[in-house]
Amino acid sequence: MAANLSSIAGRGRGPAIAPLSAVPGITEQRWLQALLDSIPDGVIYLDKQLTVRAVNRSVCALLGRLPRSLVARPLGDVIIATRDLDGQPYDVTLYAARSIAEQASKDLGPLWLKKRSGTTEPQSITIVPYGKPRSDDAGCALFIRNTTPEESAEKLRDTILSLVSHELRTPLLHIKGSVGSLLARDVEWDEETRLYFLETIDRATDRLSSLVDDLLSISAMRGGQVPLNLENIKPHELVSEGIDEASPFLGEHKVVVNVPRNLPKVRVDISRVLTVLINLLENAAKYSKPGTSIEVGATVAGPVVQMSVRDEGPGISDEHRHDIFDPFYRVGPRDLADGVRPSGTGLGLAVARAVTEAHGGRIWVEDAESGGAVFFFTIPVVSSNKAASSNGSVGRKWA
Ligand code: ADP
Repeated sequence: MAANLSSIAGRGRGPAIAPLSAVPGITEQRWLQALLDSIPDGVIYLDKQLTVRAVNRSVCALLGRLPRSLVARPLGDVIIATRDLDGQPYDVTLYAARSIAEQASKDLGPLWLKKRSGTTEPQSITIVPYGKPRSDDAGCALFIRNTTPEESAEKLRDTILSLVSHELRTPLLHIKGSVGSLLARDVEWDEETRLYFLETIDRATDRLSSLVDDLLSISAMRGGQVPLNLENIKPHELVSEGIDEASPFLGEHKVVVNVPRNLPKVRVDISRVLTVLINLLENAAKYSKPGTSIEVGATVAGPVVQMSVRDEGPGISDEHRHDIFDPFYRVGPRDLADGVRPSGTGLGLAVARAVTEAHGGRIWVEDAESGGAVFFFTIPVVSSNKAASSNGSVGRKWA
């Protein structure tokens, strides 16, 4: 790596670096590396082919990788699957190539970058070109820094505004249209049509109420403390209530319940855990074809009950498995089986993770053996000293 560094900086067209050879006992390469390492931002130097020529310590820490696994690799292997805060993929390689060709700096961000163990915090990236675009020694440097809270807040505000404009307006328009038709004095609607309008209003109101619930939960999570109203309940009772409440979203899906009645009681905030179940059931129905089965299961595993919701949809590829639990993250239409993405906000699984973790449990997704996805989450079994009292209220820190 050091040799690369020297060649990049030594040509005189890159960042201004004074001659270093005057210092006895320290090679120019070591100086350059020390200089790079002293920069708090992550730095990646690229040549014209967008191959990594040098990196500093901060970027290795940020991506959780050693320098030797980054240097001499194409940029696309190093900064992979970036996405903006709306969850849309963002091709940094494209912007780096443009920056060199146009000899112009580019400011990108906030973006999430992929690292081995998931994604980074939102990062801002500045791309600075060096060298003449047509010459062999052209290239660019990427400076990567944590997004400031102000930048994140501004982006979050934009995301929420676009959510409000798309996701809240549609059900409101349905309600307005149906109520307007029912109120029309000059038309006699038959019973079937009246029922159709009322059902449309009912569905749209459910949609609005679930969106508002998700938004409130996300905002509560950002505040930190959320009180849990803990009660003891049998898993099969929880599941049947969840299926009842989710029934407006389940359409023609067949729901199979595989929850033994003799499982021990769990100690949970019932309404919040119902939100988790309903979000998973709604997703299972939304992302799989009408008429396919959805199976809800539960098993006991030591101090926890492990609940599962399995569907026969497209499943979730490895690349997205961790990120789908982040707020506003949605798999792009390109990655879905038929290229069509149902409407949504990217909040349901974030809420599900926050609720599960507030109960000391975890949530994850696997491939179902029969195809499709199977989501699991764990909730605590009533411990023997809690079994006597069935009600309690505690304040717990959300994720
Ligand atoms: P939303 O469904 O509103 O987009 P979620 O947070 O519930 O938001 O889900 C995040 C993303 O995870 C979805 O956009 C979708 O891409 C993916 N996803 C969730 N559940 C499933 C599922 N059962 N099958 C396939 N993809 C799913």
